[in-house]
This record gives sequence, C-alpha cells and structure tokens, in this order.
Amino acid sequence: MFPNAFKYEAPTSVDEAIRLMDEYGYDGKVLAGGQSLIPMMKLRVAAPAVIIDINNLNELKGWSKVNGKLRIGAVTRQAELEHATELREQFPILSRTARWVADPLVRNLGTVVGSLVHADPASDWGTAMIAVNAVVEARGPKGERLIPIDEFFVDTFASSLDENELAVAVHLPIPTKPVAARYMKLKRKAGDFAIAGLAVQVALDSDGRVSEAGIGICNCGPIPLRAVKAEEALIGERLTAKTIEDISKLVPEDADPVSDLRGSADYKKDLLRVFAARALREIAEELQGKVEVQ
Ligand SMILES: Cc1cc2nc3c(=O)[nH]c(=O)nc-3n(C[C@H](O)[C@H](O)[C@H](O)COP(=O)(O)OP(=O)(O)OC[C@H]3O[C@@H](n4cnc5c(N)ncnc54)[C@H](O)[C@@H]3O)c2cc1C
Repeated sequence: MFPNAFKYEAPTSVDEAIRLMDEYGYDGKVLAGGQSLIPMMKLRVAAPAVIIDINNLNELKGWSKVNGKLRIGAVTRQAELEHATELREQFPILSRTARWVADPLVRNLGTVVGSLVHADPASDWGTAMIAVNAVVEARGPKGERLIPIDEFFVDTFASSLDENELAVAVHLPIPTKPVAARYMKLKRKAGDFAIAGLAVQVALDSDGRVSEAGIGICNCGPIPLRAVKAEEALIGERLTAKTIEDISKLVPEDADPVSDLRGSADYKKDLLRVFAARALREIAEELQGKVEVQ
C-alpha cells in the first residue's frame, strides 16, 4: 500500500526542527531512520500530514564522551554502534544488542533514539537502555530536559516526550569499574521481534562483588521493564553458581507477559529465568574467569 500524501520538511538546525514540530503539532512526525515510521505509513496505521526529516542535522550525528557520559546523537545508526570497536570495552551492551535487532538493512538506517521514541514493548534497544540506566536528552520550545529511561516509557507506543519535543540524544553513563553485558532473545525466525528477551549488565568491585547490576526485560509487559528484585538481590553478591541460580528465579517476578500463539505466559517467564542464569554465568566467566562454586 502507498502512504497518504504528506508535506516534507527538512530543517537544517535543531531549533528549526523544534519550531516545525511546535507549528504542526500532532499533524507532524519526525523522520529518523524511518524503519518504524515508514512501514506504519505504508500500512496507513500512521498518516502524518507533515514529515519533519531530521537527517540533515549534523548536531544529531555520531557520539561523544562528555561529563562521564557517552552521548549518542539521535540520527546515529544502530549499525554504527554495532561496529564501533572502540566502544566495546565500556559499552558492550551496544554491539551485544545490535546483532539481535532485525537485520543489517534495518540497522543501517534505524536509530537507537528512534527505537526509544517509538516505545515498542518489544524494542531491544529500550530493554538494553534500561540495563545501562540511560537518560534521554530532549529539547523543545521550553528548553532542554533529561529524562531517565525509567520515566521515558509511559505505555505501549507512548513515550513521555511532548508533541513538540525532539529527542536529541541518549546518554549512557561511562562505567567506572569493569563491566560485562549480554543480550538474550528468543525469536521465531531471523529478523523477528522478541518473543521474550533480556538485557543484563553487571559491574564488579575490586573484591569481586557486584557493585552495579542492570536487567531489562523485553516484550513481557506494556513497556520494556526492569527486573528490580533481581537487580537489588545482585548488589554486594559474588557471582557463584548458587547466587546465579537463586537470583535468576527473581527475574520473572517483575515480568507480566501475555499468553499468545508464540507461547504461554508461564513459558515466557521461564525463558526469562533461563536467559538470566545464562547471561549471569557468561558474565561471571568474562569478569572473574569462572563461575565460583561457593
Ligand atoms: C523488518 C523490521 C524488523 C525489525 N525488527 C526489530 C527487532 O527485532 N527489534 C527491535 O528492537 N526493533 C526492530 N525493528 C524496528 C527498528 O529497530 C527501527 O529502526 C526503530 O524502532 C525505529 O528507529 P528509526 O530511527 O527507524 O525511527 P523512525 O521510524 O524514523 O521513527 C519512529 C518513531 O519515532 C519518532 N521519532 C524518531 N526519532 C525521533 C526523535 N529524535 N525525536 C522525536 N521523535 C522521534 C518518529 O516520529 C516515529 O513516530 C524492526 C523494523 C523493521 C522494519
């Protein structure tokens, strides 16, 4: 199907983009990678009267490290982050997640920020950004604000951005201790969204105890979720076989999946437990060389 006719605007500055968003309100839609918006327009699920293309805005391209954060601009492609070997040590979650998202064609155009704003409960990026405690930088006519990821997802396909606010970047804290991360996902076939998925990032202190833990849950509720109980239980613990087994059982307690053609709610919850145990074992082996028995 063809999309409805629309007007096309290509601002050359962030201020101009915000002015256009403010002028057109609900009738205007920002175009980043177009990998969610264009399919929705072709299906006529979305029929914006005006497209505001932000791809000319140099200020939104690439990434930089500022004030203890990695700042990823809003038109940085998922594939750029996937292949950025210089980011792998401090931000392993980026390449670990990217390889699970769609296929190379989608990742070559799709952006992480666009995925966050789209607010799909099955967003692998939303899930990963929960695990690393990301913050979205938004700019609108009233100025700039920083939105912690836990306050960003409001409901299915709804973020806390105002209609006239542009998400200009996402910030990831630069870890101060060695970190390891894993993304685990079950999908029906290559390129699919998750039946269920899990993002885990852990940092250990010099004593070998967990000092930071982030766990995001994909497609098991109306928005990407945080496994709060498991995160809290991990802090101060050593990654032993017993701790990993016990704490993995807490992950499904913060999930609320529905039963559908791809699996029952109980099956999806058990998947999360298995993913958590597998991710934590791999992280333990990476950070401490082994999984301690005691
Ligand atoms: C075949 C296919 C398979 C896919 N599989 C997966 C998958 O397995 N996992 C997964 O997580 N995703 C998947 N996706 C989605 C993909 O990751 C999209 O790229 C992503 O969701 C949206 O990013 P985008 O840059 O393309 O945004 P767009 O499509 O350009 O925009 C999406 C929405 O966000 C708004 N928006 C975008 N950027 C901004 C901004 N900076 N400020 C304000 N509003 C903004 C737009 O107006 C629009 O409403 C798939 C997509 C396709 C086509």
